[in-house]
Amino acid sequence: MNILIFGPNGSGKGTQGALVKKKYGLDHIESGAIFRKHIGGGTELGKKAKAFIDRGELVPDDITIPMVLDVLKGAGATGWLLDGFPRNIVQAEKLWNALQKDNINIDYVIEILLPRQVAKNRIMGRRLCAKDNNHPNNIFIEAIKPKGDKCRVCGGDLSSRADDQDEEAINKRHNIYYDTKTGTLAASYFYKDLAGKGKTKYIELDGEGSIDSIKETLLSQLD
Ligand code: AMP
Repeated sequence: MNILIFGPNGSGKGTQGALVKKKYGLDHIESGAIFRKHIGGGTELGKKAKAFIDRGELVPDDITIPMVLDVLKGAGATGWLLDGFPRNIVQAEKLWNALQKDNINIDYVIEILLPRQVAKNRIMGRRLCAKDNNHPNNIFIEAIKPKGDKCRVCGGDLSSRADDQDEEAINKRHNIYYDTKTGTLAASYFYKDLAGKGKTKYIELDGEGSIDSIKETLLSQLD
């Protein structure tokens, strides 16, 4: 099974992606993680990509597209879940054409919908528990609101990650994501169109639900 997953930063895309990947034994291919590996390994590609990533910009298509297509070629037989790619309309078209050429289907395209302001609040509202990283706290999500200024699970001290408070960086990422003309939503809608022609299946999920309810809706729609 081959799946693409779309969702803005703050939508829980990573969490849902991990669940789907586990259930179907898919290779989780994340373009951001591939870049980080190249940067960590000091490769030529990593050196080229780093400046763009540090500025919060997309790495140019002539670097990104061949890199991702190459990794996809080596993916396991059970299929893949592609996350973070495509991020713009050119990448969406190139991916589709490359896969068509090799007779590879995209079985599902998942879009997690979340209004921009809600996504931003979710990121800025995240709090980290000093005692346990896995204790979820968010001042803007009722279900996981801290108890006063302490962790809702264990009462530990809370802090926020510096990059979660970087409003400019969040806006920059969301500008790319919510761009329906050439950005990531344009890429997503490219596949929605194809789904309308019966060439793939498109699943829309309401990102404002709880992790469990989104997961259930999602799994019930996958074969
Ligand atoms: P991520 O971990 O998905 O947030 O990706 C980290 C960074 O890698 C992004 O901010 C971009 O600079 C770069 N990147 C990841 N995926 C892509 C892509 N599909 N196209 C261009 N740049 C990307």
